[in-house]
Amino acid sequence: MRAWVVETPGPVDAGPLRWVERRLPEPGPGQVRVRVSCCGVCRTDLHLAEGDLAPRRSRTTPGHEVVGSVDAVGPGAGRFTAGERVGVAWLGRTDGTCRFCRRGDENLCTDPVFTGWDTDGGYADACLVDERYAYRLPEALDDEQAAPLLCAGIIGYRALRCADVIPGGRLGIYGFGGSAHLTAQVALAQGLEVHVFTRGEHNRELARDLGAASVSGAADECPVPLDGAILFAPAGELVPVALRALDRGATLAVAGIWLSDVPGLDYAAEMFHERRLRSVTANTRQDGEQFLRLAARLGVRATTVTYPMHAAPVALADLAHGRFGGAAVLVN
Ligand SMILES: [Zn+2]
Ligand SMILES: [Zn+2]
Repeated sequence: MRAWVVETPGPVDAGPLRWVERRLPEPGPGQVRVRVSCCGVCRTDLHLAEGDLAPRRSRTTPGHEVVGSVDAVGPGAGRFTAGERVGVAWLGRTDGTCRFCRRGDENLCTDPVFTGWDTDGGYADACLVDERYAYRLPEALDDEQAAPLLCAGIIGYRALRCADVIPGGRLGIYGFGGSAHLTAQVALAQGLEVHVFTRGEHNRELARDLGAASVSGAADECPVPLDGAILFAPAGELVPVALRALDRGATLAVAGIWLSDVPGLDYAAEMFHERRLRSVTANTRQDGEQFLRLAARLGVRATTVTYPMHAAPVALADLAHGRFGGAAVLVN
């Protein structure tokens, strides 16, 4: 089969990925093999390609928003039958035994396995997944629509819950790409007032079309005090900006896995009055199941830009340079 691997992590324009020929992997105990129909392009793939996130093993195939059909079932696996459509997401496996898993916070597992970082992901013809961590996908969503929901959607949904906005309150969204445009739709459907801060005309237009109450520049002052905010842009310098925009007692949730350094904070202006700053780390399977059901029910629509699988480096470069609005999807 054909697969992309991260050959030499470095700037995306220097070509860190390589297109290689590999043996079709055989599913091990409890695993299924997924014939990839399409795979979403997440900013984390870019961080891995560029080396912001250090590789956990060499020549790994990225991709953790995989939609495909089961084409082989490993020993002891019985949850899916051949031909069934499944989604493969970032959380590839947890140990199930550490104290975080035991208390229901498997997103904080001390020994997790992440798809496309610890194991080969979906920038390929096929990949393997532990069947317990695969998702059944709502029929209402076609493959291309479902792919971005699997990370951008799920993580955004967890971030929205972490931002803990009061019912009917005002949510600030800093950075407006793949994850944010899905999260905004959930927030709006739940009756929140959404204020968006982003650069890039594609993203601003998308935010306006979806119904944002205001759309401003990335670091502009907010027109109203916010009851919660999510930082999607991987820009630590926006942390104090977003904290200043919060009302008393409100939370800023940082959705990304990687963030540039956060500058020093002014305690009185940016933290006092019980403002909270928290990160969002991966997700539980329950977050995933809940979000996928909710997305189908609320009619969340991903704005997608498709690329053929062989053009994965172009998709990553376009993401790095902000050349599209919404989410990129690689199609086999
Ligand atoms: Zn664990
Ligand atoms: Zn992701």
